[in-house]
Amino acid sequence: MLPFIRSDLNQIRAYTPHPSGDDGKPVTAAITLDRLDTNESPFDLPVELKEKLAWTYQQLIESNRYPDGGHEALKQAIAEYVNESAGINPTAFTPANISVGNGSDELIRSLLIATCLGGEGSILVAHPTFSMYAILAQTLGIPVVQVQREANFEIDLAAAQLAIEQTQAPAIRVVFVVHPNSPTGNALTSSELEWLRNLPEEILVVIDEAYFEFSQTSVVRELLQQPNWVVLRTFSKAFRLAAHRVGYAIAHPHLIAALEKIRLPYNLPSFSAAAALVALQQRQLLLESVPQLLAERAKLIYALKQHPALQVWDSAANFIYLQLKATDFKAGAQDSLGNLTQQLKANGTLVRQISGGLRITVGSPEENLRTLNRLQAALNKRDEGREASKKPSL
Ligand SMILES: *Cc1c(COP(=O)(O)O)cnc(C)c1O
Repeated sequence: MLPFIRSDLNQIRAYTPHPSGDDGKPVTAAITLDRLDTNESPFDLPVELKEKLAWTYQQLIESNRYPDGGHEALKQAIAEYVNESAGINPTAFTPANISVGNGSDELIRSLLIATCLGGEGSILVAHPTFSMYAILAQTLGIPVVQVQREANFEIDLAAAQLAIEQTQAPAIRVVFVVHPNSPTGNALTSSELEWLRNLPEEILVVIDEAYFEFSQTSVVRELLQQPNWVVLRTFSKAFRLAAHRVGYAIAHPHLIAALEKIRLPYNLPSFSAAAALVALQQRQLLLESVPQLLAERAKLIYALKQHPALQVWDSAANFIYLQLKATDFKAGAQDSLGNLTQQLKANGTLVRQISGGLRITVGSPEENLRTLNRLQAALNKRDEGREASKKPSL
């Protein structure tokens, strides 16, 4: 390590977002893979929207000029969408309630900087959950307190409460939850929500609704009564704009003002802002794919649940979480899981191996069919391998 680098960075490894996709193979090879490891939409933007965006770039974006650093038009459009999708008064949330980030990842970092930096606070997460909260906290030297989840993946609320009461120097200042959670797909329950409502107002509650368009469940209305809550959303999933990196936060204007102080002045490239605006204008068209994905999810879950070796959970998002059943643990579930992931990859399907299970994105109908076939083939092969390995000892 170079002598001028912060010593605690020694302990941190760089995040590799696509561990299975980026292994030095030519790009053309990657494109033939079913990339079901990052919860993107399987559908690119429709051609007519790409053409509209190309036109916008040619006619309206001056590439020699800095972007609109205030994001006014985009914030206005986001506020309208937030109000409309929550079925509330069209002026309930205004641009003063919105901050836009270079992906919601940027907003997570800004929230950490605004709350905990300089030894002022720790964060609380319930494992397993989205990894970026802990990763970004570590890069800022912010302590991470982790509690477990129950068998149904609800947060262990007794442990969480104890952590809040007992963590000192620095005390917990932010609680991060995903609604519905990644990788497990469960939405917050009424008891989890009740616990969050009862947290003291010195604690910020971050509710990450990255999968809102799939779950259609949101706490946005409650923000009007909860100045210590913030909701994060993204254009990377249902809106099909992962390539453009646009996320947003919805919160009390005072919290938004703090986030605005922290962000880089031109955090969002003009082209990304234009893409998000076009996506919002055409939201009806883009979100038409959601019911189809939900129907595919139901088919996939039903089929996977038939398999005796798999434990499959219901999901409120665009991915499915499964584990190998307990009988497999004797045979080394972690190994089996690793083999399964490798087999799937060798056959062209990328999935995410995480927290003792697999997270599989719901893809196009063709991809999902291949997922089922390839998973079946990999499990058959594993069973054959076991039978063969038993023989010599007989
Ligand atoms: C995908 C995802 C995001 C989106 O991050 P971006 O930086 O906006 O692409 C945020 N939170 C969770 C839980 C996610 O799964």
